[in-house]
Amino acid sequence: MSKIIIIGSSAAGFSACGHLLKSAPDAQVTLVTQEDAAFYRKDLLFDYLAGQVKERDLLLCDEDFYQNKNLVFLRNSKVIRLDTRRKLLYLRDEKEKLGYDYLIIASGQKIVPPQIPGAGKEGVVLFYTKQEAEKVKSALPLADTICLIGEAQSCLRLVEILAQKNKEIKVVSSPPADSFVSSPKVEWIFDSAPAEIIFEGAELKAVKLDNKKIFAASLVIFTGGFRPCTEFLKDSQIKTTQDYIVVDEQFTTNIEDVFACGSVCARLDYTLQPKLWDTAVNEGILAAGNLIKAMERRKASCQQSC
Ligand SMILES: Cc1cc2nc3c(=O)[nH]c(=O)nc-3n(C[C@H](O)[C@H](O)[C@H](O)COP(=O)(O)OP(=O)(O)OC[C@H]3O[C@@H](n4cnc5c(N)ncnc54)[C@H](O)[C@@H]3O)c2cc1C
Repeated sequence: MSKIIIIGSSAAGFSACGHLLKSAPDAQVTLVTQEDAAFYRKDLLFDYLAGQVKERDLLLCDEDFYQNKNLVFLRNSKVIRLDTRRKLLYLRDEKEKLGYDYLIIASGQKIVPPQIPGAGKEGVVLFYTKQEAEKVKSALPLADTICLIGEAQSCLRLVEILAQKNKEIKVVSSPPADSFVSSPKVEWIFDSAPAEIIFEGAELKAVKLDNKKIFAASLVIFTGGFRPCTEFLKDSQIKTTQDYIVVDEQFTTNIEDVFACGSVCARLDYTLQPKLWDTAVNEGILAAGNLIKAMERRKASCQQSC
């Protein structure tokens, strides 16, 4: 029985997993994620925050999926190192390790906030995962003035949601899209960058810009600065470009039996651009399909030589 590990439980990892369980019933699939959540739809997080989608509607599958005897789902399991020579993954504190025959890396992206004072403190939220969306939800009732920092499109979606909740909003981003409707409660700043998030003790008080202007804020949300989650590839020999895993049209990497899909990977013949949810889903299915072909080729050549 081939041992397949998938890193990542979102669009790409979940679809790869579903395809393998359906089309390679002889394989043992282990899916590893650093999150403490069931499979969920990240592309609905704005609607979830807006209250238009309930928690159960975020779920990608029902309980039966997890009961599949060929699936091991490991939550809260951050991969910290990959040894492709010995085909081993190291989890958490390096004491736990998992061996594989085939590996799919679908570790996606994360938000890396600018390195300014205060950015790592409590009261500053990165809006990328369900857990972070929940943090924002619970912080909203107490936050009067909210500062959004990041990518214009995501800021605009948050402005639309928060304006309905009657909040004062400052956006620090690139210029807004034409669909932005200005209002007395929203100030969109695109000619300066954040320089400091100011706290008094543990309490978030204000944001200072690089033009020295300071405005009050009781909650800061970062929604941009996306970077691929590939730190664990250091010394793995897997080829990257600008930290994205380089793949070919089969979603194979430069290392045999290692595939990558979704927003963590890039093709050298394509321009780097953000991937949509459906693209990541399709890539997961394609990577899993190519892995199954590789497995079948190996089985056939083994049978010939035996
Ligand atoms: C707030 C928000 C709203 C969005 N809205 C839309 C939308 O409306 N429409 C749309 O098409 N797209 C939307 N997107 C983009 C869409 O969500 C992405 O295209 C999609 O999530 C990419 O999926 P992925 O599987 O490649 O990676 P990700 O979703 O980033 O998932 C990566 C997975 O890998 C895991 N992981 C990472 N590193 C490790 C590690 N070291 N060890 C173990 N596990 C690890 C993570 O926990 C996660 O499970 C939105 C994204 C966000 C953040």
